[in-house]
Amino acid sequence: MPIRPACCPFSDCPSRSGAPFEYRLDGHYERGVGRRSIQRFECLACRRGFSEQTLRVDYRLKRPELLPRFFHDRVSKVTHRQSARIHACSRSTEERHFGRLREHCKAFHDKQMALMAARGGLGEVFLFDEQETFEHSRLRSRSPCPC
Ligand SMILES: [Zn+2]
Repeated sequence: MPIRPACCPFSDCPSRSGAPFEYRLDGHYERGVGRRSIQRFECLACRRGFSEQTLRVDYRLKRPELLPRFFHDRVSKVTHRQSARIHACSRSTEERHFGRLREHCKAFHDKQMALMAARGGLGEVFLFDEQETFEHSRLRSRSPCPC
């Protein structure tokens, strides 16, 4: 699916401060990692170039294959130290990837919440199973012993 940039990736671009953001397609290049063809763009507001890769979460990573592995480790409750050991990298690499994942997931969450708010919010009734399980176990552990 072709990517359509929503804004210029350069923070000092005039399009970030009210000017309309327009871009033009500026060719392709072959990426060494993953052997993909990457679309290049030119921002018409600041006349600088960027690519699909600039907008991706694995931009400038030496080992982009680690990012989904670290994500699966986080949701599987693998510790940071163990995760670094399993994937044969340093803890600092794992920490940097984790920070990148954290920012990406937060941006995704914020975007989804904004979309939901635009549709009228959650409504009056919603299910949240984890909260119910947590409440149940907390109440049971605090109840007095019957014996
Ligand atoms: Zn720009």
